[in-house]
Amino acid sequence: MKASRATNKWAAKSSILALAVSASLHASVLPEHQTKSQWFTDAQANISEKLTLNNQLKAKNVILFVGDGMGISTLTSSRILQGQQNGQSGEEGYLSFEKFNHTALVKTYNVDAQTPDSAGTMTAMMSGIKTDVGVIGVDEDIERGNCATVAGNEVVTALELAEIKGLSTGIISTARITHATPAATYAKSADRNWEDVSDMPEDAVNAGCKDIADQLVNFERNLEKRYAGTDVNGIEVVLGGGRRHFLPKDETFNSADASSSVEGDRTDGRDLTAEWQQQYPSGKYVTDQTSFNAIDTNTTKHVFGLFNESHMQYEADRTNDIAGEPSLTMMTEKAIEILDNNNKGFFLMVESGRIDHGHHAGSAYNALTDTIELAKAVEKAYSMTNPEETLIIVTADHGHVFTIAGYPKRGNPILGKVVGVGSTEASLASDGKPYTTLGYANGRGMMSLSTTNADDGYDSPVNAGRKDLTAIITTDSGFHQEALIPKSSETHSGEDISLHATGPGAQLAQGVIEQNVVFHMINQALELIKE
Ligand SMILES: [Zn+2]
Repeated sequence: MKASRATNKWAAKSSILALAVSASLHASVLPEHQTKSQWFTDAQANISEKLTLNNQLKAKNVILFVGDGMGISTLTSSRILQGQQNGQSGEEGYLSFEKFNHTALVKTYNVDAQTPDSAGTMTAMMSGIKTDVGVIGVDEDIERGNCATVAGNEVVTALELAEIKGLSTGIISTARITHATPAATYAKSADRNWEDVSDMPEDAVNAGCKDIADQLVNFERNLEKRYAGTDVNGIEVVLGGGRRHFLPKDETFNSADASSSVEGDRTDGRDLTAEWQQQYPSGKYVTDQTSFNAIDTNTTKHVFGLFNESHMQYEADRTNDIAGEPSLTMMTEKAIEILDNNNKGFFLMVESGRIDHGHHAGSAYNALTDTIELAKAVEKAYSMTNPEETLIIVTADHGHVFTIAGYPKRGNPILGKVVGVGSTEASLASDGKPYTTLGYANGRGMMSLSTTNADDGYDSPVNAGRKDLTAIITTDSGFHQEALIPKSSETHSGEDISLHATGPGAQLAQGVIEQNVVFHMINQALELIKE
């Protein structure tokens, strides 16, 4: 006790000394145009703020934000677009979470893959161990697609441990709620594609493996069965897309905003939304903006929101939804209002699932605008919680083969063609054609569509390689960037992604870490596993 106080005193003295030394040095050595420059004073203020950080390690709540496919080039270009949408140059700004004081680089590979997928990466973040590509909530001894290898290889997740501890829990995704990232919080599956029973091979169904939607709706029962004597109350907040996996393949079960003639996919005739309602009679099942808005967050204990039959809309396309759907920020706000009714605390996972889809389709516009929306959701979460009791982590599962290239001048539109320093005309490449700052190493290639929805690009043939962009407005929402190598869908990348953290325990985000360290950060902050 005494020794540590002495150490702290010494540390405080030495940092004051360091500041004093640097102050006296710059006063005499550095010219005023340097020390009075805003670059200089801003950067010094940044250091001073860091010197005042506290060192609390235990949190009451943890919120984990996952930007699916949100690599570092996505962060940089989204930050620039955000600034430019506000009339600034863009480069000098920050996405909300980029101001968090603690950052680490994260290695994303799976046990059997150099470039990972979301199933293996999210299982790592949720369980503390790395596993194979394409599998959910099971360790590396699994054989993908083989139901018989699931038993005995299941892992326990942070969300399950939080439930057992009596915390409230929530999952949000703009993708289908049965998609890899959200599924890895609650399901165990030999294949990420087993979203409903019709997606599974017959022998797996016969052998007793359950589809992912079934596992979500029966989460409480399954967890109590696995740990005899535990009494949990289920996931309080589930918000996302993917109704098709919960409804029978029968048009009489269609929702008000079904876009297919038969919305449901289930071939076993079960209506899992009704099964959920039976388990939680006072819970609210909602499918559109109006019923979402009507949820009373003081009295509602369980919410199940499925706002689209497949993935939810891209943020830029959201107002086109038939019955209306909430934004990621609105869902985050609603979830926290419900979860914070529990004075023991909560664990919430929020996935921005469609950043990944924008990139896969080759549309930087959709990937970047969804990233900006994620930054808004983080800002909302930060403003609604006490920074002394809530650890907020913002990270990605993997990156994409997406680059920011050429020598565009400061403030050049990030979605535009490269215009060099001192110039007003687009620069020409060695082939005599203009080129964009943003591009993909592989994918479907250049498209100039009239719609915002990136997925519309899948209706056009692959158009990779160099194209003449002279007459094309690349800043339009329907523009898809060029890609070098033709692929039916642009791919993930294998480089590190970043992790940003604030709140108690955030100081453990440092250096280059394996992705499964994320679980251990959450665990140490919430003390999920007691020795
Ligand atoms: Zn992906």
